[in-house]
Amino acid sequence: MLLLQDKLNRPLHDLRISVIDRCNFRCPYCMPEEKYSKHYTFLKEKEWLSFDEIIHLVQLFAKVGVRKIRLTGGEPLLRPNLDDLISDLVKIPGIEDIALTTNGALLSAYAQALKEAGLKRLAVSLDSLNPEIFKFLSGQKGNVNTVLDGIKAAEKAGFESIKINVVVQKGINDQSIIDLVKYFRGTPHILRFIEYMDVGNCNSWKLESVVPSKDILRMINEQFPLIAVKANYYGEVAKRYRFLDGKGEIGFISSVTQSFCGDCTRARISTDGKIYTCLFGREGQDLKTPLREGVGDQTLFEIIKRVWQKREDRYSELRSQIHSTDSTPAKVEMFQIGG
Ligand code: SAM
Ligand code: SF4
Ligand code: SF4
Repeated sequence: MLLLQDKLNRPLHDLRISVIDRCNFRCPYCMPEEKYSKHYTFLKEKEWLSFDEIIHLVQLFAKVGVRKIRLTGGEPLLRPNLDDLISDLVKIPGIEDIALTTNGALLSAYAQALKEAGLKRLAVSLDSLNPEIFKFLSGQKGNVNTVLDGIKAAEKAGFESIKINVVVQKGINDQSIIDLVKYFRGTPHILRFIEYMDVGNCNSWKLESVVPSKDILRMINEQFPLIAVKANYYGEVAKRYRFLDGKGEIGFISSVTQSFCGDCTRARISTDGKIYTCLFGREGQDLKTPLREGVGDQTLFEIIKRVWQKREDRYSELRSQIHSTDSTPAKVEMFQIGG
């Protein structure tokens, strides 16, 4: 097997695949309604990588060291027959782990099929239990009870420990943190508090809106004492903590205040088949065109190898430097390449 390393000696281990650029929510921090209204043109179906093309690429990526796949979007559950893709992905030699990130709105309908297809791990985004705040943060499109029902349906389908992703913004949903902790403490599910990031160019991100993980940790620890837990594996993004009274675990993803570029082993594939080596990338390398032209696997390997071997991304480490020279650096939008 050919194992790839980038310029900072990071291996290629994880692949995030955006299966669709559309979404049934309009979260202001990702896809604000004013920009992504009905007048916005999303990709046409023929521009999406087909399932056969995704499988083909994952087979190649598995041969250069990828072990983990995360399906994301946009909202991945809007992609028709996603369970068919999953049932083929789980059979690919070398792929040890497949996960899906969803906003949960359609989870009640699909949880059983996802489980039967062989999906092992699920992350559901849920920024507040307060119906008004939740609605605001979904761009007036979502209903918190539908998502909570989706989580229950996933439990019933056999997903034992679900990750619950919470993007925290100062003055918007920081008052929801303790409610979420109380709701999920004592369940097998793991809340993960994510620092609000300057992904893409459309969310008018400001550093002042970020709630540093250490502040959230302090706030939770005052009421529910926590103890740090070792990472499960090299490159784990979330810093883990356990409740001292044994009532479960939470995590923090601190891309802004404690960047983790040093062991970032992730590549991303956009819905239209471009490979990106950083969430904050500007341009991806097209894989779909050579795939559709029928070039051989050796040529595709060469493209992937070239892209990874010249990688030196570490945007989060350099964020303040980058912002000091360019206040709006051009970046791909998160829904196009997946979170
Ligand atoms: N639609 C699905 C969802 O919301 O779970 C999957 C795609 S979404 C882009 C993946 C993750 O990125 C979600 O957990 C979302 O909350 C997170 N996300 C989106 N914009 C973000 C931002 N500006 N900062 C931090 N996380 C963000
Ligand atoms: Fe859609 Fe997820 Fe982005 Fe919200 S975070 S707009 S649910 S893709
Ligand atoms: Fe990886 Fe880029 Fe995020 Fe750093 S900023 S952790 S290189 S995706």
